[in-house]
Amino acid sequence: MTKRIAVFPGSFDPITNGHFDIVQRALPLFDEIIIAIGVNSNKKYMFSLEQRMAWITKTFVGESKIKVMEYSGLTVAFCETVGAQFILRGLRNPADFEFEKGIAQANRKLLPKVESVFLLTGAGFSYVSSSIVRDVMRNHGDYTHFVPNAVRVPEGKQ
Ligand code: ADP
Repeated sequence: MTKRIAVFPGSFDPITNGHFDIVQRALPLFDEIIIAIGVNSNKKYMFSLEQRMAWITKTFVGESKIKVMEYSGLTVAFCETVGAQFILRGLRNPADFEFEKGIAQANRKLLPKVESVFLLTGAGFSYVSSSIVRDVMRNHGDYTHFVPNAVRVPEGKQ
């Protein structure tokens, strides 16, 4: 049987408990999940690609179904390259839905054979976003509530 491969694309700047929750929910559904960090030269990130990748890798260490990769360009083109049939995205609220609907419909037009799959985050994580985490970090708040244990910023580097 063909392996069911999903790409979970995002910035993961940094990975949060919301992302983690989505991946945990998706694990039983797929044979392989590629957490794909999109590299967009027009976007400013708080953390380097290497740092974001290292945190994700550490978070899922020992989980054989998960791979962490980077990509640039269209998500559907990356799906073709790695042979993924699914794009995984998380939904927190109606605003996410509206936004994701547009992206998913465009992706379907570009590459109909790739299906977008949406999972609802657990209620306790629906308010968590990377941008809130970055704000808490910049202002020296306790960001550890919102991120997996692997994500730790050395004192003075926030
Ligand atoms: P992007 O730059 O593509 O928005 P993100 O890293 O912010 O990248 O998000 C990647 C995916 O994770 C998106 O599908 C987003 O909706 C989802 N996501 C982010 N935070 C949460 C959360 N708290 N609960 C569920 N899904 C989330």
